[in-house]
Amino acid sequence: MSVAYFDYRPAYLRHKNEVDAAIARVLASGRLVLGPEVAAFEREFAAYTGCAHAVGVASGTDAVELALRGLGIGPGDEVLSVANAGAPPVAAIRAAGATPRFVDVTPGPLLVDPQRLAAALGPRTRAVLAVHLYGQAAPLGEIVEFATAHRLHLIEDCAQAHGARHGGRHVGGFGRVGCFSFYPTKNLGAFGDGGMCVSDDPELDRRLRRLRQYGFDDDRHAHEEGLNSRLDELQAAILRVRLAHLDEALRERRRIAAEYTRGLAGSGFETTAVASPDEHAFHLYVVRTARRDRVIAELERRGVGYGIHYPVPAHLMQAYGFLGYARGSLPVTERACDEVLSLPLYEGLGSQAVGEVLEALRAAG
Ligand SMILES: *Cc1c(COP(=O)(O)O)cnc(C)c1O
Repeated sequence: MSVAYFDYRPAYLRHKNEVDAAIARVLASGRLVLGPEVAAFEREFAAYTGCAHAVGVASGTDAVELALRGLGIGPGDEVLSVANAGAPPVAAIRAAGATPRFVDVTPGPLLVDPQRLAAALGPRTRAVLAVHLYGQAAPLGEIVEFATAHRLHLIEDCAQAHGARHGGRHVGGFGRVGCFSFYPTKNLGAFGDGGMCVSDDPELDRRLRRLRQYGFDDDRHAHEEGLNSRLDELQAAILRVRLAHLDEALRERRRIAAEYTRGLAGSGFETTAVASPDEHAFHLYVVRTARRDRVIAELERRGVGYGIHYPVPAHLMQAYGFLGYARGSLPVTERACDEVLSLPLYEGLGSQAVGEVLEALRAAG
């Protein structure tokens, strides 16, 4: 029996009646974009994360761009971030007109190494974009201290971290803005694209609301240059249903992750999951192996899906060559990109499927 790397359908079927009713409700309402469903979802999501405000936008990438622009960060400014979270955070920094400065990660969890932040600091540095990769909070204590000491804005990229906690507190509210994605594969996935900016600052919230739609206030007059980055009513209504079941989904993710952790003990596959299991949101279950090609060949032979997050670090992607980073400049990041492997992890993935994944890994290891 084959195992899919990702499938949204088991989660959909589980709550089909509620989701179908939400879709029908929107279609009957006469309102399709930025209406009452978006407003209700913004309130409910803000409450879930423990933040005062939330603004629904079109994607997680847009959420990061809007957060930067909302804080006045743009051309000439530098933003500290990591290179092992794929292209989106970097694309967002560039879309805002700013320049990323990459900081290497620590070998265990592959999160930003707080000891290396200071070396990347320059006179143009304005912000830290902390990425809570794979569902684990970046070392927020040290990052907040660093950002405060150097008068930098802290923005959190929580696209992989719905449900993740740090010291018991939900991520997203540690800095000025928390940015979430509702891309279908994420912990809280829409049936299309969506994103959210959460904050505790009413002025910033108002600015983000303007920026998401051409710089408009209610008068539909562009008061400043904005984007078109709206969340639609269908996605918001579906996400409200999914949010009501998110804690249940997180419990299932943690159960699957625990099965992987137990099954891989002593196997030679190194796990990146170091946070306490009740704080890790397990968006991805990422292991490391120096023999990844061989392992992948075995997974493919058995029809077991896998992911690689991510195969090429951003600083070595063709598009970002102009930033001037040579191979070898971020050694921990670069080595990790050659070794990481993401295992199937989603709602409805049964224990038998998890057993098959583990068996394939053991056979290859
Ligand atoms: C998915 C993701 C994004 C971008 O979200 P989209 O909704 O796909 O634009 C940003 N950052 C990280 C870390 C992500 O995983």
